[in-house]
Amino acid sequence: MRIILMGPPGVGKGTEAEYLSQHFQIPHISTGNMFRAMFDDPDNKIGQIAKAYIGRGELVPDDITNELVLERLSEADVEKGFLFDGYPRNINQAEALDQMLEQFDWRLDAVINIIAPDEMIVDRLAGRRVCKVCGKIYHVTNRKPKVEGVCDRDGGKLIQRTDDMEETVMRRLRIYNSQTAPVIGYYQHSDAFYAIDGTGTIKNTNNAVMKALGEDK
Ligand code: AMP
Repeated sequence: MRIILMGPPGVGKGTEAEYLSQHFQIPHISTGNMFRAMFDDPDNKIGQIAKAYIGRGELVPDDITNELVLERLSEADVEKGFLFDGYPRNINQAEALDQMLEQFDWRLDAVINIIAPDEMIVDRLAGRRVCKVCGKIYHVTNRKPKVEGVCDRDGGKLIQRTDDMEETVMRRLRIYNSQTAPVIGYYQHSDAFYAIDGTGTIKNTNNAVMKALGEDK
């Protein structure tokens, strides 16, 4: 299964991606997580460049991002499929991905676009917390950990991403609407495109995605 998960920041892509990656046993490729994993190493040049862009809520330059994705797609575990979360984020990246797929002789099975209005997104991002160790996603009211501030999976500390602060969220949304939303047009006429309502609960969204993929039996 080769899947792209699309939608504005905070719509629930990461949560849905975790589920789908387990269900289909395919790697979850989040370019955001890959960049964040490089942050802590001061010698990692790409990590330090990415950190500056991410801190401002801007997109990391395409040449860096596309190169990272190409390297990831060259790893052995991707043979059985993959799920992209947060890539491609503009038309240039969508075109670069098409070239990579052609190079590997792969086609996409599904492009899933999860939709929710901006006000809901701002609220969800403000309450989002992530595990500093494994990146698992929580929410202060909608998806609480068993113990406040602590990851259920590995006991890691739950933190608020600096780019989830309100001002940066607004900038990320503006960038999403101007640069990433046009990518929907790039895919929406394909048979593999599915628009999913992301305004309900995590379970509602998940059921709708599974139904679209014919996995609800
Ligand atoms: P995410 O975790 O997907 O919300 O990504 C967090 C931040 O990482 C974004 O706001 C961008 O600054 C950067 N980023 C993640 N994926 C990409 C991408 N495909 N292209 C450019 N920047 C990205």
